[in-house]
Amino acid sequence: MKYIIITGGVMSGLGKGITAASVGRILKNRGYRVTAVKIDPYLNIDAGTMNPAQHGEVFVLKDGGEVDLDLGNYERFLDIELTSPHNITTGKVYRTVIEKERRGDFLGETVQIIPHITDQIKACIQQAAEEEFPDGTKADACLVEVGGTVGDIESMPFLEAIRQMRGELPEHDYVLIHVTLIPEDTMGDLKTKPTQHSVKALRELGLHADIIVGRSERPIGAQTKRKISAFCDLPQAGVISAATVPDIYEVPMEMEKEGLADVLSTHLNLEKREADSSWYRLVTREYTNRVTIAIVSKYGIEDVYISIKEALKHAGRALSTEVKIAWLDAERFETCQLKDCDGVLIPGGFGKRGIEGKIEAIRFARENSVPFLGLCLGFQLCVVEYARNVLGIPDATSEEIGGGTHVIALLPEQEGLMELGGTMRLGDYPAEIRDGTLAMKLYGQKVITERHRHRYEVNPRCISRLEDAGLVFSARNKNRMECAELPSHPFFLATQFHPEFKSRPTNPAPPYLGFVEACRANKRTK
Ligand code: GLN
Repeated sequence: MKYIIITGGVMSGLGKGITAASVGRILKNRGYRVTAVKIDPYLNIDAGTMNPAQHGEVFVLKDGGEVDLDLGNYERFLDIELTSPHNITTGKVYRTVIEKERRGDFLGETVQIIPHITDQIKACIQQAAEEEFPDGTKADACLVEVGGTVGDIESMPFLEAIRQMRGELPEHDYVLIHVTLIPEDTMGDLKTKPTQHSVKALRELGLHADIIVGRSERPIGAQTKRKISAFCDLPQAGVISAATVPDIYEVPMEMEKEGLADVLSTHLNLEKREADSSWYRLVTREYTNRVTIAIVSKYGIEDVYISIKEALKHAGRALSTEVKIAWLDAERFETCQLKDCDGVLIPGGFGKRGIEGKIEAIRFARENSVPFLGLCLGFQLCVVEYARNVLGIPDATSEEIGGGTHVIALLPEQEGLMELGGTMRLGDYPAEIRDGTLAMKLYGQKVITERHRHRYEVNPRCISRLEDAGLVFSARNKNRMECAELPSHPFFLATQFHPEFKSRPTNPAPPYLGFVEACRANKRTK
């Protein structure tokens, strides 16, 4: 197993996750099997209880793991499905070690950060790296991205574990890539000092950067590379320029041009193989159309909806259609803003804020034959809207929101739950699609499996009334509604699940494909 460690310097938010995923893609394009681990040094057990406005989207894995959004990047770039152990947090590591201590596993010992915590970290990394893919094979290489920046107190035990790994593994099974910022000064010169400082911080921890990926607005030239090479003890070929590109999926291509594949192969003693170029052809396909889609949400932060944004992009690429997103604030937008858009998307969410605006947007889309895609909360609200404005139940609402007629109610298994972390209906569940529906047209199969993250559902007592009034529940899991649609509308589809989590550039999610196509058709008829 080859371990590719990715650390970050200078500041967070440099695109370390995209860099890691791109390194993986470069190897995958050469026929290597790649897996990935993300280390998040916070104390939360998982990302499920964190505010997405602070940490970005909570990504959901097939096994129900609520994880850092970087796992979404890995899944999309590498076209794999990961599991919860691939996101290691301080919370998980300490919990395990403390449980072992209570069990008596360390009887007689003083339990310490080194070796007990660091051993546990190494065991977690190895366990995730060695996990079999569904076809029974194992990865050839594992990316290990350490969240945060070098020097953070919280990441110290992880960096120490990574340092120990270097000594314990065969020389060619380990490479450390350090991602840093190369800022520009007012004269337009690229500055290497922050990189020098962060490499110094790495050295103080006993770590050496084998490869430095320099993030900058424009490409780093030979002179800057020479300087970094001299100050940071690595050959010039090991300094990789990663300038900002219009689309993240082009990053592997850019790093490839910088010779990263060769440098990696040398470090890891891999044979130099020709790269399969189908990924590059796919992500650079020309757009011949453009649509504008309104996303009505309460967070103005795009990071919260990364998977949705990417799923729209995947569908758009497949249809040669560029998708522009108009981010509309659910509490403030005007209906006239929706008129300028070719489709309306209501994403998932929690709590009451912005609910009424979202319901208004759904009503507009339904009444004006504007293509509509509702996801999770968006699905629940389309049921509320239908109950209010078609069934004539003015106080129809969701139990999550407050008093009224609860057409959306708490899942029965959630009744009396004491803990909120990791207790929603999470991850993969099958749904059975009804023949002759839009969902069937899109998926083309009777049973699908999609990822979930919710506590509420369509109230089983309301289903027949809603259906009698014309809302079609086109997919179900037993008595649980999974999809809703309106046959009389050009494209009105909502899903209790999140198809965006399984969307890949190489394999767009069917509801998104159908939606973008409908938006394109709507634009043409306007
Ligand atoms: N808040 C809703 C629920 O818990 C929807 C969740 C979501 O959109 N992910 O059921």
